[in-house]
Amino acid sequence: MTDVEHVRLPAELVPADGRFGSGPSKVRDEAVAALAAAAPTYLGTSHRQPAVKSVVRRIRDDLTSLFGLPDGYEVLLGLGGTTVFWDAAVFGLIERRSQHLAFGEFSAKFASAVAGAPHLDAPEIIESPPGTHPELVADPGVDAYAFPHNETSTGVMADVRRPEGVAAEDGLVLVDATSGAGGLRVDPTQFDVYYFAPQKCFASDGGLWIACCSPAAIARIERLAASGRWIPPSIDLAIALENSRLDQTYNTPALATLFLMAHQLEWILEHGGLEWAASRCDRSAEIVYGWAEAHDRAQPFVAKPAERSHVNATIDFDESVDANWLAAELRANAVVDTESYRKLGRNQLRIALYPAIEPDDLATLIRAIDYLIERAPRH
Ligand SMILES: *Cc1c(COP(=O)(O)O)cnc(C)c1O
Repeated sequence: MTDVEHVRLPAELVPADGRFGSGPSKVRDEAVAALAAAAPTYLGTSHRQPAVKSVVRRIRDDLTSLFGLPDGYEVLLGLGGTTVFWDAAVFGLIERRSQHLAFGEFSAKFASAVAGAPHLDAPEIIESPPGTHPELVADPGVDAYAFPHNETSTGVMADVRRPEGVAAEDGLVLVDATSGAGGLRVDPTQFDVYYFAPQKCFASDGGLWIACCSPAAIARIERLAASGRWIPPSIDLAIALENSRLDQTYNTPALATLFLMAHQLEWILEHGGLEWAASRCDRSAEIVYGWAEAHDRAQPFVAKPAERSHVNATIDFDESVDANWLAAELRANAVVDTESYRKLGRNQLRIALYPAIEPDDLATLIRAIDYLIERAPRH
């Protein structure tokens, strides 16, 4: 047996930072250095004291500025990431019946978490094939509408828009913005809950959920908590609300995660805020999709240009190129996590375009992919 031989990329084709994963994603070195510098008086200190509470405070204030949240909107946070937030929503946001757009792994997962809840009616699930997204349908029997801003598994983005003619009080709009928040433009008047975790555009680690909530969402949280419905305390949004207002979490958070997120938020705000971050993602998307469209052996997976994600791109290859081989060769050169979403089962690479990722590194990456394609084993 001999070791597998890998193609070695010339130095000028190795991106300065080789992290292109869609989540967890690149954490900027400057943020890690700032964390190390702050560590002696920050890590290992009480989350009930000012050193940590001030970081939570900054996160809540900076998110309010970043998204231009109107008066009365509040930023809640808790532990467990987006997946746990779905369970929190099952108890604390959905009254009886929800409608879900399911067009990939993540949006389908929320729908199935709801489907299993004995205290709720069966959800209305509207599906469309991978690589597309369906539209909401106003329905008087539905009290919450759920969809992702960006379906990370397929690289499809959707507009955040209320269903036609539905008031917030009648149907809350719950947007899974885990991969979209901080990289895609959004109008906060169009959502009631815009929730996410910090390991994507916010270039931090996983394990937290953050939810920007409208007054209608807060009223729903308070009403359901007071309704006598049993809610496990660790995912009780009314308890999270109470703690968030004090710049705390109900139980102990990961302090490093909070710090890195605060750092990324400040980095985005210093450069010009959401419009700056979204423009940077637009530029990165143009680099990757422009290349794929012009390629004779590759093409964007998502057919409609307006639905192609500007935070993570999915690129299909024709049968003459083995995308798994490409991803493995890139990995052997320390360029990591370009593999397509496992369960999608396509001959595809998936490349994150989050704000922390340098557009120049994406330009280098596509040249590296072309270099590898020319050297691919024939079959
Ligand atoms: C990554 C992701 C999730 C899962 O987030 P966790 O923090 O791992 O629970 C959910 N939804 C979307 C759209 C995602 O991109």
